[in-house]
Amino acid sequence: MRLAPWRTLRGRMLLAALAVEAVMLFVLVANSVRLLEDAMGEQARSHARQIIPILNAALVAPLAQRDYATVQAVLDESKATAGIDYVAIEDAQGHLVGVAGWPADQPLPPVDAQFALDGDERRPRYDVAEPIRLAGQTLGTLHFGLDLTVIAEARRSLRGQGMMIAGGELLLSAALLTLLGMMITRQLSVLTRASGRVAAGNLALEPVPEGEDDVGQLGAAFNAMSGAVAERFAQLTAARDRLEALARDMEQEHARMMALLSAMEFGVLFTDREDRIVYANPAFLHAWGLDAECLAAGMPAEHVLEVVRERLRDPDAWRRDVEWGGAATVELVLGDGRILTLERLPVLAGGAEILGQLWLFADVTAARRDAGQLKTAKEAAETASHAKAAFLATMSHEIRTPMNGIIGMTELALDTDLDDQQREYLGLIRSSADALHAIVNDILDFSKIEAGRMDLEKIPFAPARLLAETIGMFRPAAAAKGIGLEVRNANALPERLLGDPTRIRQIVSNLVSNAIKFTAAGEVAVEVAGLLEEGDRIEVHFVVADTGEGIPEDKLGLIFSPFTQADSSTTRKHGGTGLGLAIVARLVEIMQGRVWAESAPGQGARFHFTLRLGLPTVAVEPVPTAGPAAPIRSARILVAEDNRINQALVQALLGKLGHVSVIAMDGEAALRLLSEDGPFDLVLMDMQMPRMDGLEATRRLRASEKALGLPAIPVIALTANAGEADRQACRDAGMDDFLSKPFRADDFKAVLVRHL
Ligand code: ADP
Repeated sequence: MRLAPWRTLRGRMLLAALAVEAVMLFVLVANSVRLLEDAMGEQARSHARQIIPILNAALVAPLAQRDYATVQAVLDESKATAGIDYVAIEDAQGHLVGVAGWPADQPLPPVDAQFALDGDERRPRYDVAEPIRLAGQTLGTLHFGLDLTVIAEARRSLRGQGMMIAGGELLLSAALLTLLGMMITRQLSVLTRASGRVAAGNLALEPVPEGEDDVGQLGAAFNAMSGAVAERFAQLTAARDRLEALARDMEQEHARMMALLSAMEFGVLFTDREDRIVYANPAFLHAWGLDAECLAAGMPAEHVLEVVRERLRDPDAWRRDVEWGGAATVELVLGDGRILTLERLPVLAGGAEILGQLWLFADVTAARRDAGQLKTAKEAAETASHAKAAFLATMSHEIRTPMNGIIGMTELALDTDLDDQQREYLGLIRSSADALHAIVNDILDFSKIEAGRMDLEKIPFAPARLLAETIGMFRPAAAAKGIGLEVRNANALPERLLGDPTRIRQIVSNLVSNAIKFTAAGEVAVEVAGLLEEGDRIEVHFVVADTGEGIPEDKLGLIFSPFTQADSSTTRKHGGTGLGLAIVARLVEIMQGRVWAESAPGQGARFHFTLRLGLPTVAVEPVPTAGPAAPIRSARILVAEDNRINQALVQALLGKLGHVSVIAMDGEAALRLLSEDGPFDLVLMDMQMPRMDGLEATRRLRASEKALGLPAIPVIALTANAGEADRQACRDAGMDDFLSKPFRADDFKAVLVRHL
């Protein structure tokens, strides 16, 4: 931009400087002219003062003598003297008596009061009048005019010169100042141009010149500033680039999210804090039969939710479950039968600020249908499993009942007088029946475990005594084979443990019986190998070791599978079903333990198993595992049993023990006999009887005893159903004990002893 010269700093400075200079010069010149004038005036006055005494002296005499010719001559002569313009004398009366240089007919010019060079006379003159005296008497007046032409000339030339000098000086100053200004402002215009370029966006500037003076420092400051601007601009550019990249990323992210939302089978509705619609995905529109056009972002969600509510089978459910309900997930049943779940989640920004809500709808119709089918299938399976269990129970009862007869009757027969052959035959019958009994028990146990119906007890017991008693059962067999039988380290066991002693006994028995079976010489030992306490539980590690024939390594992994034997000749040699170890493995498993075997052919076998058992928190008396075999008094016993063989067996056993028995054919008969034919010391009650079963009969008996305030008579269940559930049913009905069929004479005796 081109500025008018007076608007530039340079122009203004120049004008100001020149104005000041002009004023100063004017004052200077005027002053010197005045001074000169004063000096000249003084000179003229002194000139006049010099002339006056001379003329006075020359004129006094002629004037006194009225010698006017001499006066005229003096005047003429004086007039000839340089510097006198005119000279005239008036006498005392004021008559002009002599004049030179002035027309005599003209009045003399007035006397100048003071010396002045001004006036527009062509000839500048100083008019003076001086009285001429002699002895105090005035003789006349001398008039003369000093010619000031020279002085005026000098003044004029002085003025002219002063003006010229001032003009020259002004010109010179102007030139000098312009030059100086240019020098200063050249830098400024460089800066101005550079700033203009910066303003136009050109930041890649050559730095402007810098220097030590203030303008140079301005340049340095400018360079620093433009550097900073360039740097800031670069930062801004980078930030803008980052922002652009971020925006691009966000756009892509948004595109991906949109793709996801539109592909999703969940119905998605976003609402903002003011419950206005932000977005709804296609699945949402589809689920509720809405048009994309009918809902736009920003419109109140209420409009859409109104439609949703109308689609429900029970529109009130919306108010109840969604508007008032606090549940995280709400199930909505639509008029057309579909089932949708609704989950409402807050949409949070930065972890805290709530932006709005996410409404998530999922169509669970198919899932519910599948779940329904699954439930039906599960129920069917459960029914089947119940049927199987019921079948097993029946089978168990049906097989055990006749076996009870066989075993019991054989035992009775063996007690009679027999010849050797008969005794041998009966002995064979009994051991076959025992074997059959064992097999039936194994199969039943195994099926029960497989069906998940093995109920474990959790009762206190003394583990060391349990081991000793279990081993005790095998002493005769071991002695018969001439092998040692030992329990080692049993005193390491806690005095009391919580668990199922019957099942533990079963595990140990199975392993010990195998060990004895497969050992020809040496010994069988049950060892307590380790204990690991964990709070109120303890893991006990047992080992059953033998010095028998051992098991080939490739068979070690198989022997715990059902119906497997290490050697196919085993059955022929030793009998057995191959179920013993499978049962052991499963029992150990349900007691949260492990079982494994170490062996090599000819090296004996070591069967390890661990059990996790409870540690009783309070001292509890263990349930006695066997009663003392003490002689008992004769008692009157009611036997409720419908099977005739069992009636005969029980009666024979009771008779042998010296007791009197009365038979009832069913529960009703038992109750009648109890009330009409009493008193009885004890009741042996079969569980399964026609008309009224043992449980019902016992319940009624207990009720009537209570009503009549009679003491409770001991009731012992006789049953082929040996499960824990059955025992519990017996206890619940009010029975005192339990005798599982088929029973041995010894067990029978022990139970009676306990209750009489
Ligand atoms: P079984 O009723 O046939 O004894 P088990 O499951 O108890 O069935 O045993 C499976 C097989 O494992 C046995 O037939 C035998 O071959 C092998 N076995 C089990 N215990 C021992 C042992 N202590 N010594 C050698 N072999 C054994």
